[in-house]
Amino acid sequence: MSETKQTRLALHWQILIGMLVGGLIGILLNLNAREYSITLVGDAAGSFTRVELQDVNSMVLITTYEGSEETGSYVIGRSPVYPGITHYDMDEFRAEYPELYWMFQQYGRSWARWFSDWTDRLGDLFLRMLKMVAIPLVVFSLTTGVLGLGKAERIGKMFGRTMLYYLCTSFLAIVTGLLFVNVVKPGERAKSATTVATDAIVESAEPISVMLFSQLEKMVPTNPMHALAEGDFLSIICFTIVFALCALLAGGKTLETIRDGAEAGFEVMMKMTMAVIALAPLGVCFLMLNATALNGTDVFAPLAWYMITVLLALLFHACVTLPLIIKFMAKRNPLDFARCMSPALLTAFSSASSNGTLPLTMASVEKRAGISNQTSSFVLPLGATINMDGTALYEAVAVLFIAQHTMDEPLSLGLQITVALTALLVSIGAAGIPHAGLVMMVIVLQAVGLPLEMQGLILAVDRVLDMFRTSVNVWSDSCGCAVIDRISKTAAPANPAQVPES
Ligand code: ASP
Repeated sequence: MSETKQTRLALHWQILIGMLVGGLIGILLNLNAREYSITLVGDAAGSFTRVELQDVNSMVLITTYEGSEETGSYVIGRSPVYPGITHYDMDEFRAEYPELYWMFQQYGRSWARWFSDWTDRLGDLFLRMLKMVAIPLVVFSLTTGVLGLGKAERIGKMFGRTMLYYLCTSFLAIVTGLLFVNVVKPGERAKSATTVATDAIVESAEPISVMLFSQLEKMVPTNPMHALAEGDFLSIICFTIVFALCALLAGGKTLETIRDGAEAGFEVMMKMTMAVIALAPLGVCFLMLNATALNGTDVFAPLAWYMITVLLALLFHACVTLPLIIKFMAKRNPLDFARCMSPALLTAFSSASSNGTLPLTMASVEKRAGISNQTSSFVLPLGATINMDGTALYEAVAVLFIAQHTMDEPLSLGLQITVALTALLVSIGAAGIPHAGLVMMVIVLQAVGLPLEMQGLILAVDRVLDMFRTSVNVWSDSCGCAVIDRISKTAAPANPAQVPES
């Protein structure tokens, strides 16, 4: 047994291979999906006498005829890139055109699409497992962490340091994004690209003060059980901290019982998490396969400069700013630390969800990077909820890109500062789920008076950029964990029991 264990590849290599294999198969399927074309003539679909189905750049374009008259064209299943053609997602399409949907199922689906639908479900199964362990893991881990810290004062200090780190790095990320977008000017370069559609359906957002206040309200859940059931991280974190603090106040046998229970629960949840993590190479393979199989690459062309700007800025933040912080503040080798965190970073990339990745982040930080549970249990769940450097940077670049594309004059310095501040607040309010940044961008657009429908410009490439920014979000949380751990250890003796009460 031990021999086989030794010959097995390290987890991060397995995940990387899973990702590459999934990505490659997806790209091949994507090529296959493009060749697909079918024409049906007959009355199998009731009133339609002729239906043409063609795959255009991996979208399915359906043209229907009644007699000899064309009645409409529909694009199904992807972002709108051709103005004037109605866009449906698959469920809408099924509800509105059941007969056509039936035909589509029967004749219109290439086996590539069929295959990627199944891998989508399998990838989702992996994400469900991660979500299944996330909430109990956070509750037990945070309870043991707070009980280990021993005093409200120490928890307050850790909270202060964590918030300071998160605000500073998010701010640095935004400044990086603004610098890159002002130098590269992707919006001006894309002005000539006429194929970019802007017919997104965007709802207006609630004012920023309301959004921030609702975050504050979440910190006081009226029903903690409901918050648990809903998986509302901010409510769960706050209630668990207060619960553990009250257990400390109660002391004696009560405290011992809670401590024993939390430690036992944490051990069990960690075992369960490790079992789920063993499936990560496969899960990541499925997620990548689906992401690449369904995204036509030609939508990237008009947005190439925009994508390059976002990616360069993210790369700078992830490979220069954060490693410097790791080197000088956490006194760790950034490369070694990145290697320890790679299972979480790769999973964040494939799933585009920092909440979903949280169990892996916690396990990697504790088991691979050797950071104490007292720090990680506190810093990471908070980070997955409110610290999003990648998202903050992305908001800044995307809104400036839209401004450059839409307006003749560049956005004034005052308005760019407004973008920076709202992007910071929006990144705090965004949930750690796919496309959350895109949804929240409406608030930044509103703040500087840009037309909301211009968001349609960037819809087509959001998923790809989401993968990168989510990895940066998780990377920043992990770096924060290492920094806070280092500061806490140098500021206080390792064993809290030896610290005299003040
Ligand atoms: N998907 C990102 C995350 O989970 C949020 C975003 O859309 O920017 O961290």
